[in-house]
Formats: sequence, structure tokens, C-alpha cells
Amino acid sequence: MSSGDGPLFGRVALIGIGLIGSSLARVMRRDGLAGHIAVSSRTRATLDKATELGLADSVTLDSRTVVDGADLVVVCSPLGTYADIAADMGPALKEGCIVTDVGSVKQAVVRDLAPHMPDGVHLVPGHPVAGTEHSGPEAGFAELFDGRWCILTPPPGTDPDAVERMVELWRRAGMMVDVMDAAHHDMVLAITSHLPHLIAYTIVGTATDLSDHLKAEVFKYSAGGFRDFTRIAASDPVMWRDVFLNNKDAVLEMLGRFSEDLTALQRAIRWGEGDKLYDLFTRTREIRRGVVEAKQA
Ligand code: NAP
Repeated sequence: MSSGDGPLFGRVALIGIGLIGSSLARVMRRDGLAGHIAVSSRTRATLDKATELGLADSVTLDSRTVVDGADLVVVCSPLGTYADIAADMGPALKEGCIVTDVGSVKQAVVRDLAPHMPDGVHLVPGHPVAGTEHSGPEAGFAELFDGRWCILTPPPGTDPDAVERMVELWRRAGMMVDVMDAAHHDMVLAITSHLPHLIAYTIVGTATDLSDHLKAEVFKYSAGGFRDFTRIAASDPVMWRDVFLNNKDAVLEMLGRFSEDLTALQRAIRWGEGDKLYDLFTRTREIRRGVVEAKQA
């Protein structure tokens, strides 16, 4: 799926090398997409691990020097770090360089990165919609992106060639690519990703607050459904804190709708309205079929 014809970029800087950054580095290594991969992260331990795994040609703790001479910069750190990173690296960006990211929210990325982009630098924010509940450079794998969608949200007026090069990068990683407006992305992801995570965090939190004897039974009988929520609720706390803080409006909008629908279900259960429950559960079964048919199951 990901065969290539040589390096797409001479020098690539990855800022952050956790699950997503290291998966992208593995794709670049596998398919020879980068002449040189320079990596920065917050801690030395992560840089050592990236070197040991053969994912970096050079490493630094400095998000300014890492972008020196880079043709492509990919920000792969939690959303809350973007503004400081952008202020740091902005003055060092080379003319013609493409700056992209992998963050799960997109309007906030334009807000935090765009003001620091010098003239002649192309900002093409991106979101590979693929992931697991694991973190760090060891958690990554090149096949993470296979058959999944990547969404690019270039601000109006972005150089079409820069967008095309990002489309090509993610296609080489095995992804299908859509281009859309950042606000639209944030609304769609609020319901498909952010709200499901919030619900999982809530259910697992509620179970944790139960009295001790009930809590033990929750673990014992978790195969009844609870365990699927625990997988999602094991996702990285820093990443998800930043997602909710940076996609506040869209998440609150979807949460409002969800709360109304939940109240309607509560009422149906209270009044024994089985037909209402049956109708909804029949409709949702169809949705599952749609996800399977779209090969996203
Ligand atoms: P992760 O595994 O926790 O890795 C985060 C990386 O960012 C680590 O290398 C960390 O370095 C680095 N970092 C943290 N603060 C930094 C700073 N101030 N400067 C430079 N590097 C810094 O996270 P991830 O799952 O790859 O997520 C990264 C991004 O991808 C997030 O913005 C997230 O929204 C997005 N995303 C995640 C998923 C998913 O399922 N996980 C899916 C799609 C998109 P240290 O290890 O040294 O602290």
C-alpha cells in the first residue's frame, strides 16, 4: 500500500516522538521518505529511546535547533505545548518549509501556530485519525495509519503545492486524505472521538467511586461491556485534557445534545416505553453496519 519513489523531503524535524510521531518516523524509515530525521522531545529519556529504536538521525531537547534547515516540520506533541513550541521555532524556520502537525483539534492549531509562521513558510495542519490508548516511542508502529483517514485543514490561501505534498506524505503512509475547514473538523471529531472518550472517562470514573465490594465485582464481570470503556479511558491524560480544553465549544455543543438524548432514554426506561428503546437500538445497529462497510471497524 505504501510503496514510494525516494525521499519526499530532504530534512524532516519531528517535535515529539510518542505514539504518533514514532509511527510516522517508522513509515519514513520503511519507505525512505526523509533524507534526515531530526527529533526533539521534552525529556532526554525519550530521545535516547528514539535513537535506540533507530528512528532519529539527530536529537535535541531544543525545539528551535531541531528545525534548522528542515524542509518539513511535524509537531507531534500534546496540543497544550503548541504555542510555546511555535514561538520557539518560528524565527528558525527556513523559507519554503512546510509546517504541519498531527493534533486532534484543528482551530486551536491555527490559533497557536499561525501567528509565529514567517513569510514563505507554509502551514498545513493535519490530523491522522488513527491511534491506540498507548503512548511513547515504543508504542508506535508503521501500520497504524493503514486504511485510515487523514484530515488536512489548510487555512484559506495556503499554497496548493504544499497541501499536495502533505496529501502525498499521508498517502504514502497508507492513509486516505480529506481536506476540510478546521471548524468543520472540530465539530465532526467532537462527536466521533472526543465525546466517546468523555463518556468512557465518565463511566470508568463512576465505577471507581462505587463502594469497595461493588468495585471488585465491576472488574470481575467487566466482559459485560465495561472493559471496552476501560480501554478508551486508559488513553493519555495529558493529550485528552488538552483536547477538551482546546475544543471546548464543539464538545459542549455535542455534550448538550447527548445529555438531552440521555434524558429521553431515562424517561423511556422509567415509563416502560419499550418501543422507543427498540427503535433506537435498531437504528444504532445500522450505524455499526455502516462503520464496518466503511472498513473503519
Ligand atoms: P505521546 O505518545 O504521549 O507523545 C507525546 C510526545 O510529545 C512525546 O515525545 C513527548 O516527549 C513530546 N512532548 C511533550 N511536551 C513537549 C514539548 N514541550 N516539546 C517537545 N516535545 C514534547 O502522544 P501521542 O499519542 O503521540 O499524541 C501526540 C499528538 O497526536 C497529540 O497532539 C494528539 O492530539 C495527536 N493524536 C493522538 C492520537 C492518539 O490516539 N494517541 C491520534 C491522533 C492524533 P517526552 O516523552 O519527552 O515527554
